[in-house]
Amino acid sequence: MPTAATTTIAVAYGDGIGPEITRATLRVLEAAGAPLDYDVVEVGEAVFKAGHTSGIAPESWDVLRTHRVLLKGPITTPQGGGYKSLNVTLRKSLGMFANVRPNQSFAPFVKTKQPGMDLVIIRENEEDTYAGIEHRQTSEVYQTLKLITRPGSEAIVRFAFEYAKAHGRRKVTCMTKDNIMKLTDGLFHTVFDEISAEYPDLEVEHKIIDIGSAIVAARPTELDVVVAPNLYGDVISDIAAEVSGSVGLAGSANVGADFAMFEAIHGSAPDIAGQGIANPSGMLNGAVMMLVHLGMPRIAETVHNAWLCALEAGVHTGDLHGPDSDGEPVGTQAFADAIIERLGQRPQTLPAVTYAEADQFRIEPQPSPRSEKALVGVDVFLDWDDDGRQPDTLGTGLEAENGDGLRLKLITNRGVKVYPDGLPETFWTDHWRCRFVATDEAVAAGQVVSLLGRLAQAGFDVIKTENLYTFDGERAYSLAQGE
Ligand code: NAD
Repeated sequence: MPTAATTTIAVAYGDGIGPEITRATLRVLEAAGAPLDYDVVEVGEAVFKAGHTSGIAPESWDVLRTHRVLLKGPITTPQGGGYKSLNVTLRKSLGMFANVRPNQSFAPFVKTKQPGMDLVIIRENEEDTYAGIEHRQTSEVYQTLKLITRPGSEAIVRFAFEYAKAHGRRKVTCMTKDNIMKLTDGLFHTVFDEISAEYPDLEVEHKIIDIGSAIVAARPTELDVVVAPNLYGDVISDIAAEVSGSVGLAGSANVGADFAMFEAIHGSAPDIAGQGIANPSGMLNGAVMMLVHLGMPRIAETVHNAWLCALEAGVHTGDLHGPDSDGEPVGTQAFADAIIERLGQRPQTLPAVTYAEADQFRIEPQPSPRSEKALVGVDVFLDWDDDGRQPDTLGTGLEAENGDGLRLKLITNRGVKVYPDGLPETFWTDHWRCRFVATDEAVAAGQVVSLLGRLAQAGFDVIKTENLYTFDGERAYSLAQGE
């Protein structure tokens, strides 16, 4: 039974190495006197295989909702169609829009190419390609939808700035690919510029994600707090953890207005599961962030400093083992024992950690004001494989269906203009984007429907459409390459 002074949290042991590293972590928390009780929830592989395609049974949601904090071991998503990632489901269903991933190196005690690295990646957690909306559209072509929203971008960017302020950080770097994705990543960058103006004490910069990733790998000491959309944030945080010493080191906090989940950044490591050799540090560092979140900063410090002492003493699991290790690699539980022995000690060489009270900011995504929208055309996507795939044949056929306020402007294949005036060297797939634009200023939805009717009558296989809009008079769709 929980006593009055204890806090009950939900715990999921996870799959693969999950149970081993979670057990080790809970032993350290208990030894440090963390006043916690645990409500264990079953999630992951066994639940998937029992027929719950999201990896969580319906009754477990109530447990999570009751406690609002989850410490979670890594999960194996079974291969094959039909299974949705449990992590993505949890993060999105419970509104945990921010993923906080600190990455530090611990030279000279943990071998690293990047001594002095101390970087926090704030990854957007709900949007981007992780909407998981994918379709096969033709024999040759598959697509995924990348969704970036203004409320989502504002929430994560504001979170990053508030986090930087609360943790005494000096600089926030935004990473996107807005030279290519001018609307989606462009929105994220624009929101970053808007919100950064409210934080004049912080240095700000934007890096295109390709050079940004290279800097994470090669010169991470130039970075301090990084904020990025979901996919880039996912990729650069594994790079950052690996160059800091091991993917087994870093913990992660998933934070929303009403719920928080703490975990390691790595996965369930099936290749070493059950051997008792996994590094529990990532999970333990996730748990340390959880203690701060729960308003137990002194206990968080005690655990974190004891962990640093164990690293300094050369007590290393196999993934960290090197010339500076003391003796043979230790197993998961022996590493936990080494931390427990050092509770109350402070590191001698590595800087000791002090934690402030829990972050005093609460951010919720807010709806944006509505804009004035006008329909000015439609991109009609066709599955077309006739006549040697000659764009001119397709263009002529489609132009015969012009009328009722819409005319064919161009055709692209994989984004490149192929009609009119395409180049014979371009490779043509069976997937054609045919842009019809309003002959007057705007069209009504009915005129698009009537165009689709004419195309169907003429035997064209329409696989999808995207309306072309202006918002407040500004073009709100990308131009084709070559348009
Ligand atoms: P992984 O992170 O599990 O393993 C990558 C490599 O790092 C492996 O060689 C592994 O042995 C090593 N490694 C990982 N954690 C370690 C630790 N604590 N100590 C020592 N070595 C460690 O990545 P993967 O192999 O690509 O994925 C395995 C499974 O994990 C997949 O089913 C994937 O979907 C899942 N996954 C889950 C999460 C999560 O639950 N948050 C995150 C990523 C991947």
